[in-house]
Amino acid sequence: MSNSVLIIDDSDTVRERIIHTLESYELFSRYHEADDGLEGFKKLLSSPVDVILCDLEMPRIDGFKFLNMIKARPDLQDVPVIILTGMNDRELKLKGLEQGASDYITKPFDPEELVARVKVHLKIKHLQDDLKRTNELLLELSNTDHLTGLFNRRYLMEALEKEFQRSLRKGGNLSLIILDIDHFKKVNDTYGHLQGDIVLNKVALQLQKELRSYDIAARYGGEEFVALLPDAMLKEALFVAERVRQAVQGTKFNGALSSLAITVSMGIATLPTPEGATVDNFIKMADDALYRAKANGRNRVEYLTNTL
Ligand code: GH3
Ligand code: MG
Ligand code: MG
Ligand code: MG
Repeated sequence: MSNSVLIIDDSDTVRERIIHTLESYELFSRYHEADDGLEGFKKLLSSPVDVILCDLEMPRIDGFKFLNMIKARPDLQDVPVIILTGMNDRELKLKGLEQGASDYITKPFDPEELVARVKVHLKIKHLQDDLKRTNELLLELSNTDHLTGLFNRRYLMEALEKEFQRSLRKGGNLSLIILDIDHFKKVNDTYGHLQGDIVLNKVALQLQKELRSYDIAARYGGEEFVALLPDAMLKEALFVAERVRQAVQGTKFNGALSSLAITVSMGIATLPTPEGATVDNFIKMADDALYRAKANGRNRVEYLTNTL
């Protein structure tokens, strides 16, 4: 149990009583306190909590202002706020709920009701947290190549479309490197498919290592990879590709693969192109360059001419 709660009330006695009640049910491992909305907001920013209990009427920053401050922060939307209201504060209760509170508790509170309501909101908060994590995981999985951990082809095509349009609009550079492992079939034939996968992983790592944080490395197909380099001129892309080529050529493998040496061939296309391009023929330009790299002896980098 690592739940934490934030209690905001200008009355020390109320805060003490709430903490005393919650402690006897062992719902939380951490208790944060504040005596007005601003103090509460500061505490919230410095340590995330699972539930907030907040008085409405307080000097300086009151509960309504606190609710408004939370509303402005998308990252705090899922934290339930239970407002603490007086017995006959019908209007205040309604206004508080309207302003984003999840629930209210009437003071003086009934300890069992307080605990029951806090439990409900803790449960909802946990379900929401789980859902968020699952969604993030699903998104990551749907964008990721399972073998290498690089982006997959689907994600690459989306990113390429976006970067391509951006480059056309702004007239900026965009470089695309297609990489294909040389004679990879022989690796599989000699060492088996599983060892082949180890080689694929190693090449993926070498490629990723040479890129900037905003470049995109993807597995394009079986043993073909793509690097998308926003704002990179051909000269820069050639520099990156050459470093990758040398890194792969210098790779030492262990175990069954210890006598293996591999190389890669690469083709580069860069926007703007001499003639107008579409996404499809932009890829084809890089692919044609790759084909030439293979035809010219492999373990080399070729590029679309007239763009240097
Ligand atoms: P080249 O130098 O002309 O590129 O020759 P190559 O042998 O690399 O080219 P080819 O396209 O004929 O072979 C690609 C091989 O990649 C064939 C296929 O078995 C292998 N391959 C594709 N996907 C995977 C994979 O996920 N794992 C493994 N181990 N091999 C794969
Ligand atoms: Mg008060
Ligand atoms: Mg191939
Ligand atoms: Mg190949």
